Amino acid sequence: MSYQDKSIHCSDCGTTFSFTAGEQEFFASKGFTNQPKRCPSCRRAKKQQDGGSHSGYSMSMSRPSRDY
Ligand SMILES: [Zn+2]
Repeated sequence: MSYQDKSIHCSDCGTTFSFTAGEQEFFASKGFTNQPKRCPSCRRAKKQQDGGSHSGYSMSMSRPSRDY
């Protein structure tokens, strides 16, 4: 299996960030099947908001947004 760099629009701030092959491989090794929806800085901010209690990459897809 090989990975290719992807460009993703952040769902929070709308910026385009790259999801690199290395990161995709890292994600896969952690068992994440979804690609990230947020850029690294939004992800970090979100994590701090949540208190880091859970890693919601796979869960947050189907949930209604309660962020706003
Ligand atoms: Zn962002």
